[in-house]
Amino acid sequence: MSESNTLARIHENLLKLKMYSAETAIDSQLELAVSNKSSIVEILDQILDGEVKYRKSSAIETRTKLSGIPVRKTLDEFDLSYQPSIDRSMFDDLRTLRFVYNQENVIFLGPPGTGKTHLAIGLGLAAIEAGFSIYYITSSTLIEKLKRANHRGTLDRALKTLGKYKVLIVDEIGYLPMDKEGAHLFFQLVSSRYEKGSTIFTSNKTYSEWGEILGDNVIAAAVLDRILHHSVTVNIKGESYRLRSRKKVGVSYPPPGGSN
Ligand code: ADP
Ligand code: MG
Repeated sequence: MSESNTLARIHENLLKLKMYSAETAIDSQLELAVSNKSSIVEILDQILDGEVKYRKSSAIETRTKLSGIPVRKTLDEFDLSYQPSIDRSMFDDLRTLRFVYNQENVIFLGPPGTGKTHLAIGLGLAAIEAGFSIYYITSSTLIEKLKRANHRGTLDRALKTLGKYKVLIVDEIGYLPMDKEGAHLFFQLVSSRYEKGSTIFTSNKTYSEWGEILGDNVIAAAVLDRILHHSVTVNIKGESYRLRSRKKVGVSYPPPGGSN
């Protein structure tokens, strides 16, 4: 077989093997190898390493797209000096994702604008990088989804689906109160994930106010009992970061009639 036929077959086989990065790179890698006088081992290493890196980054991209996160915010982008109430060693410990390996929950509590969603998403993205499956949902969308499933008789399936994520982010607990059915469904979700996976919750309400959110102190106690059994609570006490940006441009805050 002539050399050009061999090369054509290599291209064909790389495509059959779905090694798209290697297939795109091989011609230039071979040219480079000739000019650099690289060994066959070096060429193979370059091509395979490129393929592995490409697959890893496209898997991360796919998992990020499917995760439902509304905006990409990383832990590196979080300015810890603006929130002195967050203990640095706790922040560093969360970054190690030890809580994911231990199936622990993380709860961010604090007023609006203090970075709860940012931190939850940052941890979620770090978990994706580490190969975990994650899903983001706001508490109100979660309750709507569970109610729909409940009415259709598919609640078990919905809970099973939500149970398979290593990290589930339930954002904005407490912005809207739950009705009786919602509170019961929320309890079922918490129970179904108990000691099976990590859930990250964010709330603008203290735990003592969760009875009001859930409309029932007994359910709230049962929910908190399970959530807090293996958990880390990060109480953020600082000012809104949004306030800082507005202060910087000299706009008074809160704006008349404005909201967060
Ligand atoms: P919350 O969920 O507590 O209401 P967010 O996480 O939505 O607050 O934060 C509001 C905005 O401010 C977001 O754009 C977020 O990225 C940014 N932000 C909040 N805190 C910080 C921080 N300490 N460093 C960098 N950006 C921050
Ligand atoms: Mg938020």
